[in-house]
Amino acid sequence: MKNIPVVMIIFGGSGDLAHRKLYPALFNLYEQGLIHDNFAVIGTARRPWTNDFLRDQVSDAVHETHSAVNENDLKTFASHFYYQSHDVTNIDHYKTLKSLAQELDDRYSAQGNRIFYMAMAPRFFGTIAEHINDQHLTSTGFNRIVIEKPFGRDLASAEKLNQQITASFTEDDIFRIDHYLGKEMIQNILPLRLTNPLIKNVWNNSTIKNIQVTLAEQLGVEARGGYYETSGALRDMVQNHIFQIITLLAMPEPEDLSSKSIHAAKQELLDSLLIPSEAEIARHFVRGQYLGSDTTFAYRQEANVAADSTTETFVAGEVKFKQGPVAGMPIYFRTGKEMREKKSRIDIVLKHMSNLYGQAHSNNITIVIDPDMQIYITINGQKINEPGIRRENLGYHFAKEEEAQVPDGYERLLRDVFVNDATNFTQWNELKKFWLFIDAVEAAWQKDNQAGQEPAQYLPYRMGPRAASEIFESATERWIYE
Ligand code: NAD
Repeated sequence: MKNIPVVMIIFGGSGDLAHRKLYPALFNLYEQGLIHDNFAVIGTARRPWTNDFLRDQVSDAVHETHSAVNENDLKTFASHFYYQSHDVTNIDHYKTLKSLAQELDDRYSAQGNRIFYMAMAPRFFGTIAEHINDQHLTSTGFNRIVIEKPFGRDLASAEKLNQQITASFTEDDIFRIDHYLGKEMIQNILPLRLTNPLIKNVWNNSTIKNIQVTLAEQLGVEARGGYYETSGALRDMVQNHIFQIITLLAMPEPEDLSSKSIHAAKQELLDSLLIPSEAEIARHFVRGQYLGSDTTFAYRQEANVAADSTTETFVAGEVKFKQGPVAGMPIYFRTGKEMREKKSRIDIVLKHMSNLYGQAHSNNITIVIDPDMQIYITINGQKINEPGIRRENLGYHFAKEEEAQVPDGYERLLRDVFVNDATNFTQWNELKKFWLFIDAVEAAWQKDNQAGQEPAQYLPYRMGPRAASEIFESATERWIYE
């Protein structure tokens, strides 16, 4: 693999994301030769760490995620890390950061290439972007910026953040990361859809009845109540992950697999996204909040959560497009915290083709994303010695050894940043459409709040509020995954 010279600056170098995801992923890229002698990483955060302390943290992070490590390699890898204590609002710190980056660029012959990674609380993204610009932190080689979610909290704030970032970076150099796009099964959607005639030929609105996307989490908000109060399930999960998944399921076939063609196909679809009316939101959307149990707190009792909070910890709803292979067809989604089990899956529900055997069976193509990875298709035969349909699943599975080879989403996406492949990142025009939709739903819910209509309460470790089973367009539709 070609070695990419670069100085990478991670804002939030002492954070959870850097520790659990970024440092292990960078080590793997180092082992693969993508970064080698000509790289340095500056970790910045508020704490007064030393270089040695950061290097120990990096080594710990790698040990925690790898069963076997080449200790010599790890020692050399960690020696490329430097710590800079930094307060995002202090201009002097950007000046120090700039001279450290220049010094490391000279020492490691990084050819003026920079990657800036914003791995901290989203409320700081705009400030950092502004100071990267006014303190001229970009250099003479390539300058790329990676931004974590959420990108804004509505269209207006996303637009402002985008302006702050585009002051220093062109759209091609902005990598808005959505780690779902780095997941193996999400990357399997297009080959599944496009290469097998049995599947490709049914992927349309005359054969598919509806599509269902479920991203269920079993954990509650844990220590992140304060952040969650500013977000809620709709902004936290639907605005990014669910919309990206839906886009891959509903987009027209791209001309080729280049980033440009993939994004062009996505944009063609998103230009036809239908923004739901208030009446449609009232009919096809449900928001919920988890209650407590003997051993767990209700959402409103969690730390840093208002006792009368209307923030939703669950949402179910519907998305439709005017164009594309599934134009006009409902795509249902739901996501929530404290649901029965952790499960991310997609169910493509096919129409009934014959009434000869009754309506009791349904025919689905299911893609399980997490925690296991598989695809299966319902196959119907007849029951042995009795009337009726016997269903079996035809499956696509991974062997244990194959599962172990699947890279973490962050490793894949970081590699893409190094090699400048924007295929699996969110473009500004896509994001704008997602926010338009989310803003419409949020506005309708604001009105509901004013009218005293609160989120539906749901018992923890079930499938969300009962009302979520009533969002469908017809009486013959139901959630396939119960
Ligand atoms: P975190 O709270 O663990 O880390 C935040 C970092 O910011 C720390 O290094 C902290 O020292 C630093 N920081 C805070 N205030 C600062 C200031 N004023 N000046 C300088 N540094 C300051 O957060 P995290 O979980 O690592 O999340 C970071 C980002 O990644 C968020 O945008 C989050 O949405 C996103 N993300 C995280 C995960 C994850 O698994 N943790 C997954 C997906 C996305």
